[in-house]
Amino acid sequence: MTKFNICVIPGDGIGPEVTKSACEVLEAVGKKSGHEFVFQDVIAGGCAIDQCDDPLPSETLEAAKNSDAVLLGAVGGPKWDNLPGKKRPEAALLGLRKGLGLFANLRLAVLFPELRSASPLREDIVKDGVDIMIVRELTGGIYFGERGTAPSDGVLEDGTPKGMEAYDVERYSEAEIERILKVGFTIAMQRKKRLIVVDKANILETSRLWRKVTEKIAPSFPEVAYEFMYVDNASMQLLRQAAQMDVIVTSNMFGDILSDEAGMITGSIGMLPSASLGEPGKPGMYEPVHGSAPDIAGKGIANPLATILSAAMLLRSSLGLSDEAAKVEQAVRAVLAGGYRTVDISLSKDDTILGTKEMTDKVIEAYLDL
Ligand code: NAD
Repeated sequence: MTKFNICVIPGDGIGPEVTKSACEVLEAVGKKSGHEFVFQDVIAGGCAIDQCDDPLPSETLEAAKNSDAVLLGAVGGPKWDNLPGKKRPEAALLGLRKGLGLFANLRLAVLFPELRSASPLREDIVKDGVDIMIVRELTGGIYFGERGTAPSDGVLEDGTPKGMEAYDVERYSEAEIERILKVGFTIAMQRKKRLIVVDKANILETSRLWRKVTEKIAPSFPEVAYEFMYVDNASMQLLRQAAQMDVIVTSNMFGDILSDEAGMITGSIGMLPSASLGEPGKPGMYEPVHGSAPDIAGKGIANPLATILSAAMLLRSSLGLSDEAAKVEQAVRAVLAGGYRTVDISLSKDDTILGTKEMTDKVIEAYLDL
């Protein structure tokens, strides 16, 4: 039996409801597998601003750093929308990413066959479901590069004065590219051994460096068949042949955009899990892709499946419990196959609509039956 320390950050809105569900599922996993999960609840986001005027109290960051993994609900809400940047709930997310050194963001876009008609894509394109893992570099590139605005004294070809100019610099080092590519190759090894490196190497110097580094490290993963794809083509192929794509690794900005596109293909934000990882052996952070959904908070109707699936990623990637992770995912599929839905993913009048608690109980029941 191994004891694991999980730092739980419920956050705001539906965050506490969905993290409670995921913890209950983890407790069931602990009972069945003989492992012990010790949960430490800490605050971040709007509730932390209310309690101590700081979206990320230092005790929270310390608890996260000292854990084996972090499970986060969501932060934010209209109550805190008008605060200045560093005082806003979202500052907690940036602080956690920075403090934990989380440079890889993994977003899993799975279209379960039972929810196929939720996809905006044609039935013939997604009839076999979709299962794409997007690995996005999270701490470099244009979002963190030098930026500025300044008046320009230049003119356009027709003589029009340029007015203000703004710039954002895309910069990547070999070391930053290598560590994210290694995450991509490693995940490809755990899945179908296929990897698409998305870039814009016909234009961008940074992309050409991504390609060079890929060629350098690919021999360490001889079983992985990799290909390069331009980002404009990748955004088209996601619509044309989503079912054929498996693992994509790419830069911060391209990953930001493509992961939302892939998420949209599944048609349901309440189903999308994510993970942010740093160096091996350091705690990763796991959270649903959705936000705090203030419109439904406290109503007991939030879909807990994205957070439960994030807990499955936590089991696999941070605790090395791949079999248990697969069983949790299988339990979610079994519940969907049984026609059980939360209201956000209900597509037919024949569905049995469940609230957050009932859906959680169904998943636990299905897990224990496996
Ligand atoms: P949202 O994801 O919270 O909600 C969008 C829509 O999806 C809403 O109608 C909501 O009811 C629904 N929805 C989301 N998750 C659901 C679930 N699990 N079950 C059922 N329905 C669900 O996005 P938003 O409305 O743009 O943002 C609300 C707040 O969340 C904002 O303050 C935003 O800043 C914050 N936010 C936080 C995170 C995070 O913590 N990582 C991410 C995104 C947004």
